[in-house]
Amino acid sequence: MMESAQVTIWPPLYTIKKSTRSKQVRLSIHPQTGLTIHLPHSLRRPIDIDALLLEKKSWILKHLHLLEQTLPREETLLPTTLSLEAIGETWQIEYKPNCAKPTLFAAAGYRLVIMDKEIQIDRTLRLLHAWLKKKGETHLVPWLTQLSLQHQLLFNKVQIRHQKTLWGSCSSRQNIQLNYKLLFLPPHLAEHILLHELSHLKHLNHSRSFWRLLTSLDPHCHQHNSALKTIETELPAWLYA
Ligand SMILES: [Zn+2]
Repeated sequence: MMESAQVTIWPPLYTIKKSTRSKQVRLSIHPQTGLTIHLPHSLRRPIDIDALLLEKKSWILKHLHLLEQTLPREETLLPTTLSLEAIGETWQIEYKPNCAKPTLFAAAGYRLVIMDKEIQIDRTLRLLHAWLKKKGETHLVPWLTQLSLQHQLLFNKVQIRHQKTLWGSCSSRQNIQLNYKLLFLPPHLAEHILLHELSHLKHLNHSRSFWRLLTSLDPHCHQHNSALKTIETELPAWLYA
């Protein structure tokens, strides 16, 4: 289930740095920062980055490939695919550097396009998290509502959030919070969490009565509960970055 970034996509992600030390345009590749294009401060004319990348293509690919082999997969943080199993959607992510303002938009054919002046991990992850939150609102809220009506377990409010350790929670005010990482689970496990939180509307603890109610809604709840512990470790690392 884990999706990892591939650094050998073309055109590659890069950062531009103006340097007082460089006398000429120079490329470097480092494990932490990836490909950097160093431009001398004294540069007068604008430079054609695409042409430069193309000219140095074999050098860049060779070194990015070497880097990819030496790094743990988690270090190449940015994903190229989002596999939202819970709702049966797989999104391909395209990174387009060279654009004025950080933007993410969904295009036809399940493509997410991320545009930025230069692709930066922090900024890009913020865009992805914001998109996933909306996705959770569009898909998880109606799902919870439908189950709630079906089983007559009525909640007050539902919020989609990103908590690093929780799948969801339910408060004494009957407010439910769901983590949008539920989207990455197989549907039956995502539904298990929704039913778990709905059961807390009647039992605000993990007592026998709670499990009895949950078992009546989800007969395999104990298996589902232990499956979750394994699957947690297989979720994309960038979700926790
Ligand atoms: Zn619980």
